[in-house]
Amino acid sequence: MTRTAIVTGGASGIGGAIARRLAADGATVAIFDLTGADTAAAAIEEAGGKATGLAVDVSDQPAVTEAVAEVRARLGRPAILVTSAGVTVDGPFLDLSAETWERVLTVNLTGTFHCCQAVLPDMIAEGWGRIVTISSSSVHSGAARMAAYVASKSGVVGLTKVLALEFGRHGITVNTIPPGFIDTPMLRGTEERGSLDVALQTAKTPVGRIGTPEDIAAACAFLVSEEAGYVTGQVLGVNGGRNT
Ligand code: NAP
Repeated sequence: MTRTAIVTGGASGIGGAIARRLAADGATVAIFDLTGADTAAAAIEEAGGKATGLAVDVSDQPAVTEAVAEVRARLGRPAILVTSAGVTVDGPFLDLSAETWERVLTVNLTGTFHCCQAVLPDMIAEGWGRIVTISSSSVHSGAARMAAYVASKSGVVGLTKVLALEFGRHGITVNTIPPGFIDTPMLRGTEERGSLDVALQTAKTPVGRIGTPEDIAAACAFLVSEEAGYVTGQVLGVNGGRNT
């Protein structure tokens, strides 16, 4: 059966690879992103997949509700949600403004809440659903200079576990992937700001390389599959062995 999937942050990095992978696996994919959603969807269509792009700010609850309604009308009930939209800010804790703290929490955590709440009624009606949140390995290791980010992603892990408990009886699984050290525009931006030494971190990574967005997409493809129906409330680390 062809499922409809929503991938937030699907125009770039990890979300982009997940959108491409789910489309290659046969899903009809709706990409929600601030910019570039149309272009990413067009590339999937050119490659033979089914995709559509919507410009959505996940921190804007009415916009998320409206976009999910559009997906339902145009592509059918969303049965898969992957929340990869996210922002990072780094710097000393004592310089962290309340506004920046609020912005990071609003996109990463509240945005995830908006998307989950908007799609769950469709999944309940379908009697089947798969939600994969993208958290961060920094939840396990901590990350100096990233207080707002790590706090927001810790909230995402907690939210994931609660939803798994509340919605398991409806055939809905909810899991989180905390990526670690994945080569994306976000990671390269952190490197450019001097907050990350890629060569040093590669040397510290047990598998001896930086991760690719496709590494995360492969784990996500399993979690949204039919056969993963008994896997819920789990934290599936994909980090080259950096966190065990
Ligand atoms: P990325 O390439 O920057 O992708 C993030 C995407 O989210 C971008 O397309 C961005 O749009 C979009 N976005 C940001 N704010 C949004 C909003 N309010 N509404 C809708 N879309 C929004 O970064 P990435 O590395 O692939 O990150 C994907 C996820 O993985 C993030 O949640 C990140 O925290 C997590 N993660 C990444 C790593 C890593 O090593 N890369 C490690 C741990 C966790 P614009 O580009 O238009 O701003």
